[in-house]
Amino acid sequence: MSESTVSVAEIPLDVLAVGAHPDDVEIAIGGTLARMAKQGYRVGIVDLTDGEPTPLSSGPEERMREAAEAARILGLTTRETLTLPNRRLFDSFEARVALAKVIRRHRPRLVMGIAGKTPMASPDHWQAMQITDAAVFYARLTKWDHEFDGLPVHTVPKQVWFPLGFEQQHLADTAGAFVSDITETLEQKLAAVRAYKSQFPLAKDRVLRIVEAQALALGGVCGTLAGEMLISPKPLLSMDVLKTLHVVS
Ligand SMILES: [Zn+2]
Repeated sequence: MSESTVSVAEIPLDVLAVGAHPDDVEIAIGGTLARMAKQGYRVGIVDLTDGEPTPLSSGPEERMREAAEAARILGLTTRETLTLPNRRLFDSFEARVALAKVIRRHRPRLVMGIAGKTPMASPDHWQAMQITDAAVFYARLTKWDHEFDGLPVHTVPKQVWFPLGFEQQHLADTAGAFVSDITETLEQKLAAVRAYKSQFPLAKDRVLRIVEAQALALGGVCGTLAGEMLISPKPLLSMDVLKTLHVVS
């Protein structure tokens, strides 16, 4: 749970998802991460800040306990929280390096980061997107190891973005958008979000219902029960168009 360890992880992660605050990733792609974990992939989350203070939480300790419980529910291999400041998160050289160090340590095959702005909600989300994009690039830059505690370079093969927020449905029209089926893990996702009792007490059950409704709507459009939207920065490659379109008999 700290950023002080500088040695490379013994076994690389398959997937590293990046949020600004503990609960961002669960709300956006908790079902996808739980499904990946079920499929046997090594999945991790890094939160750039501890997300505190917030109105109803007693402080960082409570939020960290909730984050650990959510990670357990999703079946994550690892979760880390960086010490960048909540509410004052800015895309800076230091923030990029801090995240790039995590990427160099865990050497993921896929990095998942926030897509786009979240108007009327925390501006940290937009900053987190910029930091994530930059850190993916920084992780592979040679002749710069001294900036990363001597950690070796790591080229991230693939990156996707995930929309965060209830007004982001329009991103479905974005080039590269696709839906991840979370029918089998929708309940796990909702349980992971509910683990944040300080953020979503019963009085805020409305948020849970919107998260669920969004998953059902996305799934319904694609002919399944529940889904989460992901966006590939580049066009997706298909090796078998019928399989990709799920029309194989
Ligand atoms: Zn957030």
